[in-house]
Amino acid sequence: MARALCTRCGLHPNTCVCEVCEQVDNRHRVIILQHPSEVGHSKGTVRVLQQCLTRLEVLVGESPESFSGQGLERLLTETRSGLLFPCADSQPVESNAAAQIDQWLVLDGTWRKAAKILHLNPQFRQLPCFHFAEPPASRYRIRKAPKAGQLSTAEAVAYLFTLTEPTTDTEPLLRAQDVLIRKRLAFVPDHHKTKDHEAPDPELPGSLTNY
Ligand SMILES: [Zn+2]
Repeated sequence: MARALCTRCGLHPNTCVCEVCEQVDNRHRVIILQHPSEVGHSKGTVRVLQQCLTRLEVLVGESPESFSGQGLERLLTETRSGLLFPCADSQPVESNAAAQIDQWLVLDGTWRKAAKILHLNPQFRQLPCFHFAEPPASRYRIRKAPKAGQLSTAEAVAYLFTLTEPTTDTEPLLRAQDVLIRKRLAFVPDHHKTKDHEAPDPELPGSLTNY
């Protein structure tokens, strides 16, 4: 008989990581703007954040209408927000400017999908933009070796906290992601595990982003 789906994330036990997700009491609220193509994807790392973080909103959409319908404007008026996405005038999260930010907007999608969200929502460009000057090496290796500077969404949020609230223990996020990777690798054909070191497929859901 098939095993029941997880009641928390709705995934099969072979891919669910809820049991290893420990609570992370983050001080800064994180708002994930998730592209619809990432929803429910078994490789996506946002579900690690959903099971661990105490202050998190996940808004799924692409257009300004979809985000405002989920209350984004109210969230943005509550406190000072910053956008984690590299752009021409972005500042390093490692700089003092990041100390002014109380909540973070983080895009979840392939590079192209994330750029599309920004293109369709020029209001986000009014927010102060930030990038990582010295990101750590990624531990997310499901299909191809990540290039330097590329992080999964869970890793990006973990590093964000490392810089902005260093007393918060982010290890639970990385540990849960490690389990997610182990479970996914059990389903990846061998020729995909070792094949190449090219750039990740830009359309591959769950691929990595330069923040
Ligand atoms: Zn689950």
